[in-house]
This record gives sequence, C-alpha cells and structure tokens, in this order.
Amino acid sequence: MRISAALALLLTALTASAQVPDLILMNGKVITVDDRFSIAQAIAIQGDRFLATGSNEQIARLAGPGTRRLDLHGRTVIPGLIDDHIHLLRAVSTWKRELRFDGVYSRAQAIDMLRARVKAAQPGEWIYNLGGWMHQQFKDNPEPFTLEELDRIAPANPVALQESYYQVFLNGRALHALGIEANAPDPPDFLKGSIQRNAAGAPTGIVKSDISATRAVANHLPKVPAGELEASAAALVKDMNRAGLTSFGVPGCDTATLDIFQKWHAAGTLTARIFCIDGTAAASPDQVAAMIDQIAPLRARLFQGDSFIDHISFGESVYSPLHDPMFALKSDPRPDQLEQWRKIAREIAKAGLPLHVHAELHDTINAFLDQIEVINPEYPIHNLRWVFAHLNQVDASQLERMKKLGMYAAVHPWAVINGAFMPDMPPFKTIQESGITWGLGSDGTAANDYAPFNTLQFAVTGQMAGGAKVNRQTISREDALIAHTRKNAYIIFQENNLGSIQPGKIADLVVLDRDYLTIPATQIHDIKPVMTMVGGRIAYEIR
Ligand SMILES: [Zn+2]
Repeated sequence: MRISAALALLLTALTASAQVPDLILMNGKVITVDDRFSIAQAIAIQGDRFLATGSNEQIARLAGPGTRRLDLHGRTVIPGLIDDHIHLLRAVSTWKRELRFDGVYSRAQAIDMLRARVKAAQPGEWIYNLGGWMHQQFKDNPEPFTLEELDRIAPANPVALQESYYQVFLNGRALHALGIEANAPDPPDFLKGSIQRNAAGAPTGIVKSDISATRAVANHLPKVPAGELEASAAALVKDMNRAGLTSFGVPGCDTATLDIFQKWHAAGTLTARIFCIDGTAAASPDQVAAMIDQIAPLRARLFQGDSFIDHISFGESVYSPLHDPMFALKSDPRPDQLEQWRKIAREIAKAGLPLHVHAELHDTINAFLDQIEVINPEYPIHNLRWVFAHLNQVDASQLERMKKLGMYAAVHPWAVINGAFMPDMPPFKTIQESGITWGLGSDGTAANDYAPFNTLQFAVTGQMAGGAKVNRQTISREDALIAHTRKNAYIIFQENNLGSIQPGKIADLVVLDRDYLTIPATQIHDIKPVMTMVGGRIAYEIR
C-alpha cells in the first residue's frame, strides 16, 4: 500500500504539467514544510490535491481559462495543522454550552465573557467550562476566581469554571445545586478531601485535586441535548478550523458522535479529519483475562476508512491502574500491575495492532519500555508505529530505547496552561536531538488549551500561556512546525496524504495574518488564521 501511494505521488508530479489547476494561490510566502523546508510563492490546486508549488511565474503558466485565482497579498501559508491527540468527539457533548477561555489572556476579558453569558442565560441555567485554561494565563491579574466574585456576577445562575483537570471554581448557586453545604457532610460522589472548606466548615467554592475531583463536578453538569449535538459538533469544528487545525488523532471515538461526522463526510461538508484511537482499558486482572480474546478482532476495523475518517490504533490506555495521574510528579508501577499491562500489550503486538498509549512519568515510561522489550523478540513491534503519548518526563536514554524499538513519540505539553505545576517539561531539545519521529499535540480540550499557536510558542520559547517562562528546553520554529504538521502525519498514518504542501498531497492549508517565521517568538500565540482550507475548499475565512 505504501509503494502504490508513493507511485501515485510520483505519477501526479509527472503529469502535473499536463493538468490544469482549478485554483491558484499567488503572491504568498508558502512554508511548504517539505523535506527541505522550502519556501514557495504560489500554489496550484486541482480537485482536493496540490498540483504544484513554485514561483508566481511558474504557477501562473499552469493556469487555464477556468482557473480561479486568489491573491495572498504576501501572506504566509502553512500546511493544515494536525493535533495528534485531542479528545475532540468527547467535547461535542458540551462544546455548545461551554464558556471557553482557551487563548484568553486577560482576566478582565474572561469576566466580560462571563457577564455576557449570564445576561443571555435563563435564571437557574448552568454556566460552565470544562478545562482548557488556568488563571495563571491572565496577564492583567493572574488571580483565581472567588466565590463572592462569582456570586456578584451570577446571582441567579450556578457557575462552574474548571481549570484544566486541577480545580473547579463554583459560586453559591452551584454549591447548592451540587449538594455541597456548610454544616453537612460532603456528597458521597465527590473525591474525599476534594471539597475545600474554611475553618468554620463552610465550602470555599473550590473543588480540587486531580481528574477524579473535577469529574465529580462535571458529571452533574447538563450536557448538550441530543437534538443539538450536531450544532455543537459544527461549532466545535468551526473553532478548530478557526484555530488552523484540520486533522486530529482522537482518543475515544464514540459511535453516535462519529455518525455526525460520517453524515457530513457523505454530504461532502466535513472539514475536520478524524483518526480514531479506540479501545477500552482493563481495570483489573479479571478484566484483563476477559479482554484478551477481544483484541485480535479489533484489527479488522482499522484502516477501513479514508483520509477523512478512519480508525488507526488501540489506546489511549491499556491497564488503567498504570494510567499516570495528571498532576503526579512520580509514579511507582508495581510488578503485578505491569504483568497485566504486558499481557494486553503482548496481545496487541501479536494481533499486529498499532498502539497509542498514555505514558507520562519517568518511571512509568521505563516500566512500559521494559515490558515492550520483553514482548518485542516474540512479536516485533517495529512496523506497528507504537506511540507513547504525552511523555512530559521522557529522557534521552528512554528516547534511544523507543527509537531502537521503532516507536514514535506524541508530545503534549500540558505545561502550556499547567506550567505552574510542571516545571521544565517536556524536554523538547532532547526529544528533537534524539532523532525520533515525534509529533506535537495538545491533549485538549480539558487537560490543555487546544490552540496550536499557543503550543508552538511554548515549544519555541518555553513560555506558558500568559508569558511566564516555565521550560528551559526549547526548539526552533521550523522544528516545532514540522512536529505539528509533517511528522504528525506519521502518527495518524497519513504521511502520504497530509502534513506538507507538496504536489500530490491533499490541499489542507492555513493562511496566516502574520509571518510565523519572522515575527518575535513571543507573538507566535497571537497569530490568527485568516483562511483555512480543507481538501481544496475554504473551511474558514475572515471576511
Ligand atoms: Zn492521556
């Protein structure tokens, strides 16, 4: 399959001169992100694919009488950005209701947004968001929200503002609705100790700990009603295209939500490419035993789709007791747990399945590598593209072991918003210099901010959202962009179709309002796409 795809690329290139483009984009600075990182002036597109790149003169010569022309007015163009790990389908169930603070760097602006939402809401209606931000990102006043403040702004509405998976700010109405009261025991479904109280026993409005603490609040929040799911998905895709994102590795593709995307795909209107990472983690030795026989059949559903929707790997967790908690800085994986992990991973290798697995803390990464090195002689994983995801504590020797096994790295810098708790993570320079195939993503939309230019600025400057420098290991703009495009295409099995602006590849591109390569690095997060194209069609445009 790979050979025929390569041949197709070659044939497309050879016959390009005989073909007439439907559309040419002229007078730009096209960062092709090809192997030589070459810069072009103009692009020719035919159907959903790039036909050629080159100078204005070269591309103009290809045009026929029916060719449409688009003047880029000197603007910079990059390939459509790929996020290799974002919980996109899960977000559909709440997106339309959420008050998102991703990329909002002013507390005053966040308050204004909250006031506007309160004004538009019915009395008693929940106002909430589920992560993607942290108060440390507010440049004007990086202070947490208080109960009194939220009560003043929203006296008649319950409010729940969730910071990453770290804590939730609640107002009085929300506390009451959740059954959290002064002089009363904590409701049973909340994680012990997560409900913060003052010396007098009154709740402070903060529920805090880790994912399980914040989930307890999220479980009580009203989701988008079934009849509005499609509108919620449309709002989500629009926000992604507006941010310059066109393709996604998606852990957990639930069928009902995926059906919405399938419907749009059939109608020719889908502008987000979805590559599902599917599989249920076992939680106990009994579940492992029950699961073993169910792994090999999963192979049959992989790679049955196309460049818009497909299923690509098992993930993102194998054995949930070994799923590193987000805010832990150290793990202690036990031999009995690792034995269970190895049983499933061995079955995944035996079935020839790709694996994309959450591996975050140093000792966990080591322990998983130990297991894979045991499995590998019996069932080699070299061509299966096994991926460790997140990797914030990975080191050089682990990257060397991964490379030797033929593994890839999917890096998701949670510190973009969580930098106050995650110093010097991940080691970008070490990862880049290791030579491993690695891609950059967000792990949004709760754990992290989804906006790719925030991720890129963090990789280039070490600055978290809001500007504080929290990571000393940085990489060049070129390497960061390569990781967010061409290298990510490998992680989602689309390297023959996506990730660079080259003849034969699918015409996904983003036109930027300023030049990614030359603006001060501290302004990368201010870059705004002015147009996003998916498969040669405009998916988003500032008019
Ligand atoms: Zn994860």
